[in-house]
Amino acid sequence: TSHLHKAKARRWDHRFSTESNTRLPSSLKGAARYLKNEGMISLGGGLPSSRYFPFEQLSARVPDAGHFDGPSRCSTLHAGKNDLAEGKSDFDISTAFNYGQGYGAAQFLRWIIEHTEIVHSPPYQDWSCIMTIGSTSAIDMGLRMFCERGDWILSEEFTFPTAVEAAAPMGIRVAGVKMDEGGLLPSALDEVLTNWDVYARCGPKPFVLYTVPTGQNPTGSTQSAQRRREIYAVARKHDLIIMEDEPYYFLQMQPYTGPDASPIPPPSSHQEFLDSLVPSYLSMDTDGRVMRLDSFSKVIAPGARVGWITASEQIVDRYRQHADVSTQGPSGMSQLLMYKLLEEQWGHTGYLDWLLHIRMEYTERRDVLLDACESYVPREIVSWVPPMAGMFHWFKVDYRKHPAYPRKSRADIEEEIFHAIIGHGTLLMKGSWFSPDGQGEGDDMYFRATYAATPLEDIQEGVRRLGEAFREVFAIDS
Ligand code: PMP
Ligand code: PLP
Repeated sequence: TSHLHKAKARRWDHRFSTESNTRLPSSLKGAARYLKNEGMISLGGGLPSSRYFPFEQLSARVPDAGHFDGPSRCSTLHAGKNDLAEGKSDFDISTAFNYGQGYGAAQFLRWIIEHTEIVHSPPYQDWSCIMTIGSTSAIDMGLRMFCERGDWILSEEFTFPTAVEAAAPMGIRVAGVKMDEGGLLPSALDEVLTNWDVYARCGPKPFVLYTVPTGQNPTGSTQSAQRRREIYAVARKHDLIIMEDEPYYFLQMQPYTGPDASPIPPPSSHQEFLDSLVPSYLSMDTDGRVMRLDSFSKVIAPGARVGWITASEQIVDRYRQHADVSTQGPSGMSQLLMYKLLEEQWGHTGYLDWLLHIRMEYTERRDVLLDACESYVPREIVSWVPPMAGMFHWFKVDYRKHPAYPRKSRADIEEEIFHAIIGHGTLLMKGSWFSPDGQGEGDDMYFRATYAATPLEDIQEGVRRLGEAFREVFAIDS
């Protein structure tokens, strides 16, 4: 097939950490290969017998593909203990609920690889996927794979605090790179790397870029295709590994048209839907330098604790060696439910229908929030760019217009606004909480809002209240 004409990924031997280099293959897992010998009687592996799993049958009610809007039409999924032996399914309770390999179950992994091929079609030959227990864990395991104590990694100037908090106790520091409304700035990335020594940051030059390209947490920004190509070029120039953390990739929404314009109709086919998505780093990764993190958390359910990474076989193999002795892949109960839903019930096309449904739902929520902002939030103090993806809205506050500025410090004004908004009965997150290396006086001030789960009327009311709070703090009439 066509992928054989593609080049192989680069090798990353010069990038792996001591921790990763000193991992030995799991001796117990390795012995599993002898089970394939004909007539082998295993007195070896410590797998319990499925006879002693106190589950005989599972069922779940799920919506039918193509019937996500309006009155729900549901079907019941069934999984029996011995469906495989009885020829009823490729996956069953006795397999899913037993020990497996760190990759995750082969049946479900195949579906994930097909999905990745459909959406990203990585342009090199030896890419592969491995299941994760979510992107939080994948960040942790990825950092351990590449970084030593004392290293720096790079991220957006505001980023997902959990990534920073995972890195800190490993002795890994995070340097924020300037962004604009379109996300991380390629020129700033190149500048930081080119002049690393000049900044006199004590520590070796970073070679891992942790980025959230789509619907970034917390800024809600999305890098354009052109922006991504430019950043990829900088990554090649400085030989970076790109950790592409994309939990919001499929929360790309319809364009925002404003309160009075009519909405743009949804994509009319799966192909049109896929074409509407900003291409991923993975899809342009000719070198195999991207480790992409996908997660079902934001599109199916966070409690599933199922995601996957896509990277070169060499990187995936290192990840698997770690997974074999730590997470052992996602819970078999989760894998079985997800397999039943995604492979046996919806299939790839039904899943794309679901993603399209989610896209339209988030579009509506975002639009309600933005329309309320237009009505209630004082533009002379607060500005924003409509998010194209994700679940976050980022308010920029011109704190220099505060009556007590500059007597009152930036940090104190941020604190005052935060509590004033709470006083009016709305909670927003402080922008400074998302700064990996601490934000100084003189920088801009931000607050993060989310429209993911709040009922639509409450979104409007919440925005009305925060508008009031801003007027109060900044002593604006009307
Ligand atoms: N500790 C010991 C002593 C074990 O024998 C095993 C399983 N063989 C484990 C831990 C792994 O347990 P778990 O399946 O909860 O990861
Ligand atoms: N990465 C980012 C940027 C996130 O915002 C989140 C969730 O808040 C995660 C990862 C966590 O994903 P998971 O549930 O797959 O661990």
